[in-house]
Amino acid sequence: MVSTILSLLLAFQSPAISINQLISESHDFDKKTIMIEAEVILEVLERGDHAWINVNDGTNAIGVYLPIEMTEEIKVFGDYNHRGDIVSITGVFSRNCDEHGGEIDIHATSLKIVERGFVVKHEIPMWKWIVTMFGVSLSSLLLISHRKRKGKLTKREADESLDMK
Ligand SMILES: [Zn+2]
Repeated sequence: MVSTILSLLLAFQSPAISINQLISESHDFDKKTIMIEAEVILEVLERGDHAWINVNDGTNAIGVYLPIEMTEEIKVFGDYNHRGDIVSITGVFSRNCDEHGGEIDIHATSLKIVERGFVVKHEIPMWKWIVTMFGVSLSSLLLISHRKRKGKLTKREADESLDMK
């Protein structure tokens, strides 16, 4: 009875696997049906009636090949200004795809939107960010040149002490 409940609980846990695990244990997962949960990034690359999307789950990124109609649900793609849609993808993993010149990829059989993406509001406006970065690099440059000068001084001091011997 207890084991039945336990196995039921386990079945309800997300069976998603991390992309990094897929790649690092690619021999074990090759040609197997797997499920991942990841953010859609960049854009849809159309290839006739199929398409490529890139997904990233925070551990790694992978290309997913899928029928073009499966991409219709995807609205937000992750980039500097967006957190892309989080999708759950079921498909067949290949570490050396025959159809795509030995690529590591997933041929999706299903795609579900788990969480809609959104616009990322940057805390610091771009110009302030640039000024801050410039300020930081300027002060670190000053620090480096200061250190170099100090280094030269020390070397001269060392040379002088050698001359004295
Ligand atoms: Zn492929």
